[in-house]
Amino acid sequence: MDFKKAVFLDRDGTINFDENGYINNPDDFQLFSFSGEAIVTLNEMGYLVFVVTNQSGVARNLYKVEDIELVHKKMTKNLGEKGAIIDDIFFSPYHKKGAVEPYNIDHEDRKPGLGMFKKALKKYNFNIKKSFMIGDRYADIVFGKKAGLTAILVLTGNGERAFYKKRKEWEYKPDFVVRNLLSAVKLISKLESK
Ligand SMILES: [Mg+2]
Repeated sequence: MDFKKAVFLDRDGTINFDENGYINNPDDFQLFSFSGEAIVTLNEMGYLVFVVTNQSGVARNLYKVEDIELVHKKMTKNLGEKGAIIDDIFFSPYHKKGAVEPYNIDHEDRKPGLGMFKKALKKYNFNIKKSFMIGDRYADIVFGKKAGLTAILVLTGNGERAFYKKRKEWEYKPDFVVRNLLSAVKLISKLESK
């Protein structure tokens, strides 16, 4: 049987606005207008769609794991209203400088660590070479490249500032840089038809 393929999506700045720092309340969660269409297209192309998000606000005592789950409930609901399906959500509540136990440690789950990737691979056993990572931060690119995925940087969220100001310092380079999540999905579709 043919192995499945997967697209890993960062959350804040990639799927939704990331204007006001930590999102700890469903009311502060707002999808980008194009995210539903982008994810529906991935669903139709047969990709597993995973969200992988660093949420160190838990370790930093800014919000709790339950708050993240409420935000994800809203994300799933809002995407569902557009017909878009997220197959699984992985989040990392860790940060070594945090105050809240047991999350105040350096943990492999925190991107660019590969903990969330490994969990997804174990659970879904997809074809790494046919899979992608899409995100707006350098940590997303490092995560994608270290995992062996094709890494796409979007210029929404933190992306534009990071790319134009910091890219010369980057040891890992994105395979592609595109405007937003929908452009990334159109690119994936184009690469598939080659
Ligand atoms: Mg982000």
